[in-house]
Amino acid sequence: MKSNQMEIKFKSYSENESFARSVVAAFCVQLNPTLEELGDIKTAVSEAVTNCVVHAYPNSIGDISIKVLIWDNLVTIIVTDFGIGIDDIEKAKEPFYTTRPSEERSGMGFTVMEGFMDSVDVKNNTKGGVSVKLTKKIKSLKETKVG
Ligand code: ATP
Ligand code: MG
Repeated sequence: MKSNQMEIKFKSYSENESFARSVVAAFCVQLNPTLEELGDIKTAVSEAVTNCVVHAYPNSIGDISIKVLIWDNLVTIIVTDFGIGIDDIEKAKEPFYTTRPSEERSGMGFTVMEGFMDSVDVKNNTKGGVSVKLTKKIKSLKETKVG
C-alpha cells in the first residue's frame, strides 16, 4: 500500500484557480490516471476552489488550503477556506441553487463535483469556513496492463 500527501495554501485571487487545479493534477499523476480521470479531478478541484474565491470572502481576499492524500489508488482532496461558511449545506448542494443568481452563477458547482468524483462531503468548520472533501478511486493504467 502506497501512501503520500501534500498540502498547499494560497490567496483567494481568481488567478490562483488554474494554479491550484494544475498542482493537484500534477500530484495525482503518480497514480497513472487516464486523461479522463485527471480531467475529472481538475474539473472538481476547479469548482471547489472557485467557490472559495467567489463565496467564502465577499469583498475581500483570504486563504485557501488544499490537502491531497493518496492511499493506494484512492485520492482524497480537501479544499478548505476560512470564510463565511454555508447557512444550509443540503440546500447548497441542490442543482441550480445559488445565492448569487444576479451574477453568472448557475448553482451547479456541487452537482458537477458529485458527477466527477466518487464522493463529495461538505462541512462548516468550527472556526469558520468550509471544507469540501472529494474522493476518487483511480483505476491505474500500469496495473491494468501488467494484469
Ligand atoms: P456555479 O458553481 O454554478 O457557478 P454556485 O457557486 O452558486 O454556482 P455551487 O457551487 O453549487 O453553485 O454552490 C452553491 C451555493 O453554496 C453557493 O451559491 C453559495 O451560496 C454556497 N457556497 C458554496 N461554496 C461556498 C464556500 N466555500 N463558502 C461559502 N458559501 C459557499
Ligand atoms: Mg460554484
